[in-house]
Formats: sequence, C-alpha cells, structure tokens
Amino acid sequence: MNECLFCKIIKREIPADIIYENNEVLAFLDIQPVNFGHTLVIPKKHYEKIYNLPDEILKNIAPFIKKIAVAVKHGVNADGINIIMNNDGAAGQIVPHAHFHIIPRFANDGLRHWPGKPYANKEESSKMAEKIKNELV
Ligand code: 5GP
Ligand code: ZN
Repeated sequence: MNECLFCKIIKREIPADIIYENNEVLAFLDIQPVNFGHTLVIPKKHYEKIYNLPDEILKNIAPFIKKIAVAVKHGVNADGINIIMNNDGAAGQIVPHAHFHIIPRFANDGLRHWPGKPYANKEESSKMAEKIKNELV
C-alpha cells in the first residue's frame, strides 16, 4: 500500500511528531487535534479496518493504547480520555489504515458526545439484540 498516508509516516516518508514505536506499533500526534495532545496509535502492518485486523495484532496493540492513553492524560493534564476508532466512511474514517484515536478531554472543552435515542419498546431492543447475537454463531 505505497500510497497510504500512515504507511508513509511509518516509513518516515512524511514527517510526524512520533511519540512511541516498537516493531508492531506506532503512535504519533494527530495533525489536526480535537484537543492538543490528540494521538493516533496504529499497527505498522497495513490493515484498513477493525473487521480484518488479525486478533494477534489487536492483542499486541491493546496494551499500547492503554500506555499512550495514560501518557497523554498525564502529559496534557487531561480530565479524561476518549479512545475512538472510525471504521468506514459512514463512521467518519478518512485515512484507510486502521488507527485508534486517543483524545484528551477537559471538563470545560465544550465538546458533546453523540446524542442517544431510545428503543420504542422492549420488543424492539430484544429483536435488535437477537439480530446481532445471530451473527456470532
Ligand atoms: P479518521 O477520520 O480516518 O478516523 O482520522 C484520520 C486522522 O488522521 C484525522 O484526525 C486527521 O487529522 C489525521 N491526519 C490526516 N492526515 C494526517 C497527517 O498527514 N499527519 C498526521 N499526523 N495526522 C493526519
Ligand atoms: Zn497503511
């Protein structure tokens, strides 16, 4: 995937403020942070999305997501941290290389979460749970 932006950052073909790296994982500052200190954690091997990311890679990356989250929280003295992964354009994914956003949050940063909406009734939520459960068998 020669044209991939994040693969280019991994190969140092374009610059980034790199926070951490090992053989499998890279963490660097997002160029357009939600709040300053917003960091991206990526697997070095190119996968586009969570759906086909091998479990083995996910297992290895999870402790670094935690490590970076703690470092960002302390580093910018944040009140909280959001960890977000966008998958597919409909979910806001722009860069097609799997990445986890570590976003520092502040009690007064004025940002809002997505609004929630209730199920009409218990039957509707039970049906929904069934649909998803059926995919797991
Ligand atoms: P997505 O919307 O795909 O989940 O997030 C992509 C993220 O990559 C965005 O937050 C965007 O600001 C960040 N980004 C896009 N281009 C660059 C770049 O060239 N360098 C860095 N460091 N971050 C980038
Ligand atoms: Zn890539």
